[in-house]
Amino acid sequence: MKILILNAGSSSLKYQLLDMESKQLLAKGLVERIAIEGGRIKQTVGDQVFDATAFMKDHTEGIQWMLKALTDPQKGAVKSMDEIVAVGHRVLHGGERFTGSVLVTEDVKDAIRENIPLGPLHNPANLMGIEACERVMPTTPNVAVFDTAFHQTMPKKAYLYGVPMEYYKKLHVRRYGFHGTSHRYVSKRACEFLGLDRANSRIITCHLGNGSSLAAVVNGKCVDTSMGITPLEGVLMGTRSGNLDPAVVQYIANNENLSVDAVLDLLNKKSGLLGVSGLSSDMRDIDDACDHGHEGAIIAREILVHGIRKYIGAYAAAMNGVDAIVFTAGIGENNHTLRALVMEGFEFLGAKLDPEKNMTRNEAVISTDDSKVKIVVIPTNEELVIANDTVAIIEGRPIED
Ligand code: ADP
Repeated sequence: MKILILNAGSSSLKYQLLDMESKQLLAKGLVERIAIEGGRIKQTVGDQVFDATAFMKDHTEGIQWMLKALTDPQKGAVKSMDEIVAVGHRVLHGGERFTGSVLVTEDVKDAIRENIPLGPLHNPANLMGIEACERVMPTTPNVAVFDTAFHQTMPKKAYLYGVPMEYYKKLHVRRYGFHGTSHRYVSKRACEFLGLDRANSRIITCHLGNGSSLAAVVNGKCVDTSMGITPLEGVLMGTRSGNLDPAVVQYIANNENLSVDAVLDLLNKKSGLLGVSGLSSDMRDIDDACDHGHEGAIIAREILVHGIRKYIGAYAAAMNGVDAIVFTAGIGENNHTLRALVMEGFEFLGAKLDPEKNMTRNEAVISTDDSKVKIVVIPTNEELVIANDTVAIIEGRPIED
């Protein structure tokens, strides 16, 4: 059974085709610059690369190009699009309505539309991806998998902000959290890998990539996470500021004669590692610059490490202890320097990093044998979760949590 996984952005489509019997990746591709000059599609199937340029006026044309690439006689992965049994869509914001993945219906599309104010950049694009698939593959079912769903188990004390209750009731102002599919996958996988009883476990998951978030997961259920009503809250990120006193918004707006929207744009796109270092949003560049004594890079990395350490401490307190700390995503999986800085001096909590084991980029325990708290690297696999949910839904089986 072949399942297509689609992550639709405002001008791009990232996709993977998975064979569900072997769990093998059959094809991986990126359609970019939709509705912009210089449109391009690049797909890899084994060592075959399909690379073409074309102007695509909308997502529907983007999907048509994707199918052309997937069914290409030389460089494709399937003979006909009928081999694709279903499409699993990554959808950013499910609001409070979606606690798990669902089959896309008109009602589900309406709900994704209703959540556009909460996910103004992503939800419209996700919806365009779904509607384009409906147009081009009218008989193929679509499943929506939400980035927010895993976090819907948080208790009120973790998801409510300290603002007048009317804003929660009227405007749905609350913490939602993101990267849910990743936190769900790695927290579960960590239990399997470590032989922990998931029903009796306390895990801190650190998803550290271009966007970063942490989650506290008790007995397989999320009880807190660092991102908020949008992905801006939490630790320092590539270009996002993470936590700050909201009065900063007003202060910058007044002093620089900027609108609130302009300041939010600055906090989302020009802050974080990029803004503090004045150099780059990429952690590899920051590490290189730190090695060369670049002051901006050194302080940017220190802010990031300090922020992650504070969340680990806070979540250990919130859960009355911790059994495992999990690192995942681009930085979490690949950056041993950052992991070492984050875990420094955490012996008081029972967590001791093994410097040699820490050199890995693969699934591995990186704590010492005598460390009470296990520290692990678990490569995330959001696509596999989306594909598994999609298969369960179209076969009418319950979704594995
Ligand atoms: P996104 O959040 O956009 O999915 P990633 O999870 O790939 O992005 O995270 C991007 C960050 O991960 C960058 O700061 C980059 O430095 C780091 N990163 C990604 N891949 C590697 C790698 N192979 N080696 C070291 N760092 C990496």
